[in-house]
Amino acid sequence: MLRRCLQNNIIFKFPSDYLLLLLQIHHTTASKEIIRDFRMEMKRAVTGQARKTPDNFKQRSLFEKQPDIMSQTDHYHNDNLQLIRQSARDFAETHIRPYVMEWDESQYFPIELFHEMGHHGFLGVLVPEQYGGAGLGYQEYVTIIEEIAKVCGSIGLSVAAHNSLCTNHILSFGSDYIKEKFLPRLATGKCVGAWGLTEPNTGSDAMRMQCVATKDGDHWVLNGTKCWITHGISGEVAVVIVRTGELLDSRGMTAFVVERGTPGFKAGKKENKLGMRASETAEMIFDNCRIPDSHVLGEVGDGFIQAMKILDGGRISIAALSMGIAKGAYEASVKYSKERHQFGHPISQFQAISFKLADMATKIEASELLIRQAAYLKNAHEKCTKQAAMAKYYASEVSVQVSTEAVQIFGGYGYTKDFPVEKFYRDSKLCTIGEGTSEVQKLVIAREALRG
Ligand SMILES: Cc1cc2nc3c(=O)[nH]c(=O)nc-3n(C[C@H](O)[C@H](O)[C@H](O)COP(=O)(O)OP(=O)(O)OC[C@H]3O[C@@H](n4cnc5c(N)ncnc54)[C@H](O)[C@@H]3O)c2cc1C
Repeated sequence: MLRRCLQNNIIFKFPSDYLLLLLQIHHTTASKEIIRDFRMEMKRAVTGQARKTPDNFKQRSLFEKQPDIMSQTDHYHNDNLQLIRQSARDFAETHIRPYVMEWDESQYFPIELFHEMGHHGFLGVLVPEQYGGAGLGYQEYVTIIEEIAKVCGSIGLSVAAHNSLCTNHILSFGSDYIKEKFLPRLATGKCVGAWGLTEPNTGSDAMRMQCVATKDGDHWVLNGTKCWITHGISGEVAVVIVRTGELLDSRGMTAFVVERGTPGFKAGKKENKLGMRASETAEMIFDNCRIPDSHVLGEVGDGFIQAMKILDGGRISIAALSMGIAKGAYEASVKYSKERHQFGHPISQFQAISFKLADMATKIEASELLIRQAAYLKNAHEKCTKQAAMAKYYASEVSVQVSTEAVQIFGGYGYTKDFPVEKFYRDSKLCTIGEGTSEVQKLVIAREALRG
């Protein structure tokens, strides 16, 4: 069946079938040769080798449902990436868009949606197939986050935190035992993951963390509180970085995997937020919580250094989240400006409005170039600290600027919940704060630049 798909230019009924097949590939009886050919198809997405898109796919109504205004200038639309983009877009339109405002108003975290996303491969994007993941790279990952964020920033944030923080930390530094134990559950959406670095008194200044772990036989005893944790209540698996050595010693912190239900581990206060309201944010509290030695990620004392590496990837995903929000706000603004008439003309014909749109489009494309550059380096396993910080800093600031201008273009209607731009405006602000504020990104960029 896979062979026939390849020979016939992969004609699937729905684009999401493509990711489903990828997930199921190792469960089929397909020969190694067929699987190799199929994987080569996916590799083309990373290397950019073009494969002709079948005409009947291009004509599908899914493409017409949400016209992607930016796509004409998107240089990363090789055909496989386009299939993945369409798959994520299709999913977001069907499973997220109808409920966006309901979830936002009630601050409801839709855990059932995450189980469904797991079936579609969105929760194990970077995880190899041997652990039940989609085995894709950062370009595909960025595309998926962007498409989801165009519809709902909250769900985009949760998908980003799950994939690039918790799951990627386990993938990057876990032992074989830990990877086999946790990755299949995380990658297939059987559970969502959390990642805890921040504490009430230490956000940007994470090295001063107070949460501690002390050794007791073949266990560690954790005490303290992590705050602002995405999925702090619903996360079944949490990676936490805590102090195991001296204060301000970068080798004095260690990362552990903690399972929900472990005695001494409980959720605390859920935050009532300005935006990103459907993404759960809560405290995680450790009170004499005993964790086995086998749940240490990597070496004792490496936790902070690991966290900084994980944040390089995490910042690329927050940049993609920012870009998705900005594109959503921009596309809504273009459409509205052509429909809304004042003084006998569509408002898009006023230079004051069209110049806003020109600025928005230019900044979004500049963001995309920075993001794709960082994703390229990350895929190539090259150092990308500076490029990831630049992408995160620039794209998040652009996201706030673009969604602010979008509200202005919508006028009074933009100030209501009947139109989507007020939510983009609220959601965008998180992007300049989470996973390192804009000020911290500038510190990182300056440090790297001055290194020479
Ligand atoms: C919705 C949401 C989800 C989150 N999810 C997670 C999560 O899953 N896991 C997790 O670990 N954390 C998470 N966080 C925490 C987030 O990473 C922190 O909020 C962020 O790092 C900033 O820390 P802070 O809030 O303590 O601000 P502070 O560090 O107190 O900063 C306050 C202000 O001072 C500025 N500042 C601080 N230090 C300097 C300096 N040296 N130079 C110049 N300016 C400075 C900052 O830029 C900021 O403007 C989340 C936060 C939010 C809001």
